[in-house]
Amino acid sequence: MFLAVLRAKAESAGRTVVEVNPANTSRTCAVCGHCHADNRRTQAAFTCVACGHAAHADVNAAVNILRVGLARQADEAA
Ligand SMILES: [Zn+2]
Repeated sequence: MFLAVLRAKAESAGRTVVEVNPANTSRTCAVCGHCHADNRRTQAAFTCVACGHAAHADVNAAVNILRVGLARQADEAA
């Protein structure tokens, strides 16, 4: 139901909906790709233990989700 409403809203706004598997998007560094639970120091704070990239955890995850969605869209277009 939610996806049907989302698709209709997106279509009327000239946008596309791409479904993305969210697995590990909240624990993967959007800069270097290092994936580890220790990257999430708190619910809100993301600090990569490999490269030091620091961001709000939701913003870091959103970048990862966007990247996965764009890659999937490119695959479907090819
Ligand atoms: Zn990193």
